[in-house]
Amino acid sequence: MIVRAPADFVAAVVRPEIRGLAAYAVPHARGMIKLDAMENPFPLPEALRARIAAAVAAVPVNRYPDGGADAVKAALRTALGIPETLDLIVGNGSDELIQVITTTLAKPGAAMLAPEPSFVMYRRCALYAGMRFVGVPLKAGFALDIAAMLAGIERERPALVFLAYPNNPTGNLFAAAEIEQILLAAPGLVVVDEAYYAFAEESFLPRLGQFPNLVVLRTVSKIGMAGLRLGYAVAAPEWTAELNKVRQPYNLNALTQAVAPILLAEGGLLAEQAALLRSERARLNSVLAALAGVVVFRTQTNFVLARVPDAPRWFAGLRGAGILVKNLHGEHPLLEHCLRITVGTPAENDALLAALKTIR
Ligand code: PMP
Repeated sequence: MIVRAPADFVAAVVRPEIRGLAAYAVPHARGMIKLDAMENPFPLPEALRARIAAAVAAVPVNRYPDGGADAVKAALRTALGIPETLDLIVGNGSDELIQVITTTLAKPGAAMLAPEPSFVMYRRCALYAGMRFVGVPLKAGFALDIAAMLAGIERERPALVFLAYPNNPTGNLFAAAEIEQILLAAPGLVVVDEAYYAFAEESFLPRLGQFPNLVVLRTVSKIGMAGLRLGYAVAAPEWTAELNKVRQPYNLNALTQAVAPILLAEGGLLAEQAALLRSERARLNSVLAALAGVVVFRTQTNFVLARVPDAPRWFAGLRGAGILVKNLHGEHPLLEHCLRITVGTPAENDALLAALKTIR
């Protein structure tokens, strides 16, 4: 009898492009100062935690959640002032919505186009859905290469374009006029991914009515709710009607649905925290830029991108000092020796700056 191992079956049936992938790695950060994942660093005030505890205690977890997540959508509408003419779809993080959007548009042979380097889930979701991915390199200073983007759109006729605005991991906002050119030239959907909107000065949300092929994607992860896993997309109802067919029926769990409206109503607190993070960002930028051999790039997010003399060594040195950042060296030629550092609390940022002095 031939003995067959799991690996034989895997090799026979799992798609080679999936076998060639590594699972998205999330490093452990227990006991460390965590400046690697663009989280909001502030714990919630005690009174708010008590209200959340009471709301969670009242959730009937034996029942499925509301499939339409109506309370969350209503809270988002109020918080953002979304007009009735536009619709919302919510996801288990905006990661899930990237996958839902990609799956919906993945006609055989269809292409997804995005600048690179950008958020890695775009390319991954294209691969999951069997969509052709076309990456267009950014310019050296991380601006869009608009001529190459427009040429790519003309050549590939992509069903889907992703633009992170501001961009991760580079931190900059692309020129709004160039995004407009892309919206006008694209034959398909253009997703403007505003994960970092709270730290930027621009948004395409007020311009949704102007462009029939625009979806604005957002998340609450960077403003203090990463653990809830809640992302949302705002679009014309014609788009959300299709996306809702691909979304899993109960994709937003009951606990998130109970908690998110409570926090979304705390607009003042969230805005205050975002403002403090923006001022800490300016402080980190200027101290880092004054270090010999360090180049700091302009950012409109809650992270700082810095090119250092030896990123692997600096990353290891910081880790040794109990500080976790993201080492981007090796991820893309434009990111050589770059570290991405999430803005922390003032005390965490002090610790980072002190540790950097000992590494050098
Ligand atoms: N878009 C961009 C540009 C991001 O940087 C991130 C988070 N790294 C996401 C989407 C996903 O965020 P979440 O799934 O937490 O909503």
